[in-house]
Amino acid sequence: MPYQSSISPGRSWYEDTAGPRPEYKALDGDLRCDVVVVGGGFTGLSAAVHLARAGSNVVLIDAHRFGDGASGRNGGQLGTGQRAWAEELEAEYGFSRAKALFDLAEEAKAHLLEFAAVNKIEIDYMQGQMSVAHKQRYVDDYKAHAEIMANRFGYPHISFMDARETAERLGSARYFGGTRDTGTGHIHPLKLVIGTAKVAAQAGAQLFEQTPATAITSVGGKVRVTTPKGTISAEKCLIGVNAHGGTLEPISAAHIMPIGSFIGATVPLADSNVLPGGEAVDDSRFVVRYFRKSTDGRLLFGGREIYAVNDPKDIHVHIRRQIAELYPDLRDVEITHGWGGYVGITMPRKPFVREVMPNVISVGGYSGHGVMLSNFFGKLYAETVAGNRDRLRLIEDLNIPAFPGGRRLRAPLLFFALNWYALRDRI
Ligand SMILES: Cc1cc2nc3c(=O)[nH]c(=O)nc-3n(C[C@H](O)[C@H](O)[C@H](O)COP(=O)(O)OP(=O)(O)OC[C@H]3O[C@@H](n4cnc5c(N)ncnc54)[C@H](O)[C@@H]3O)c2cc1C
Repeated sequence: MPYQSSISPGRSWYEDTAGPRPEYKALDGDLRCDVVVVGGGFTGLSAAVHLARAGSNVVLIDAHRFGDGASGRNGGQLGTGQRAWAEELEAEYGFSRAKALFDLAEEAKAHLLEFAAVNKIEIDYMQGQMSVAHKQRYVDDYKAHAEIMANRFGYPHISFMDARETAERLGSARYFGGTRDTGTGHIHPLKLVIGTAKVAAQAGAQLFEQTPATAITSVGGKVRVTTPKGTISAEKCLIGVNAHGGTLEPISAAHIMPIGSFIGATVPLADSNVLPGGEAVDDSRFVVRYFRKSTDGRLLFGGREIYAVNDPKDIHVHIRRQIAELYPDLRDVEITHGWGGYVGITMPRKPFVREVMPNVISVGGYSGHGVMLSNFFGKLYAETVAGNRDRLRLIEDLNIPAFPGGRRLRAPLLFFALNWYALRDRI
């Protein structure tokens, strides 16, 4: 019986193609360390690598298997900059902060690619990313964005595409225009998870799977994490549970909300005109559609966000319908894998970093833009432990309000709000 994640629905194509996936034992007993990391996605694993390399005694625990959350199951798109366009950040925070946030994200991208290369982790990197307008009225924004990026933020890799070029590069005439970014690309995320865990173990971090934190306390600056079969006492703690926090820590839970997102993989497409250049794509919908080809020629199509935490029964049907809207020839294409995961979003859709208790920092809420940022924020956390908090503070200082409605009402309120945006995408 193949392993199937118990926190995310469906078995992913990544699980079938990632190669050997070492298991790590569960914690059984009490431990003492410098830093305890809760959550073994990109954030936690990357932090464990950099902390251990800097000489900290690190223990990392995950409630399931590393990568079973968003990190091993996502769309694999790196993107460029923060989730919000740099010009939007400039309008909110001024040019110098917007530029600093953009440069930080560029460093995050470079870091991810360099980390994989130096540590010989094959992540199946494919170059190119297109962002496309599903309404004519957004096309001018994309055109202006390409110019602003080149002229104001010093990023020359984005070019504007008119409707004809967009249709050629997508192999679909359903979009009205967009941008093409040759300075970024997409990866096999589970391979990066597995590789990063190995590097963390080699660096001396103690890694445990199937070990949920059931409580975190900080008394007199000393941290204690409780698990079913043992406790961990530490000087510091990183919470990197993202969308999966539940009731573990109330401040993070009030600011980070889980949203289901689902992906289908088709059979390899022979002689297809779909994405001939191999770029990844995201579109202008609020309920975004994102897709790309895999190294073996499948279409990996993500598109249906469900604004409630119920699992979908029928990922294949919905994904195939969305694929057929763009590629009518694929209306009967076989979908071999359908899976989902939970994206951690914040109200303004920017990342959340906060010291939620003395010596306990929570990091997450990347809002669908965490592949490169989460890996880098793990490193920034390690920098913070080493005494330099300046760069993590750039994110900490963002204005991230809690979701309204408290724990009981926020899910239904968000459900209505986001359904309104989904409706708006269609008109
Ligand atoms: C379907 C999907 C598509 C996406 N596509 C993209 C994309 O194309 N580009 C992009 O940039 N971003 C994308 N994202 C978002 C991106 O994957 C995340 O931002 C990123 O992986 C977050 O990493 P993380 O380590 O913070 O969280 P996660 O990877 O979610 O890891 C959290 C970990 O915490 C563990 N955990 C939870 N509770 C406990 C506990 N009590 N004790 C111990 N461990 C616990 C979980 O088991 C999990 O392994 C996507 C997400 C999804 C779900």
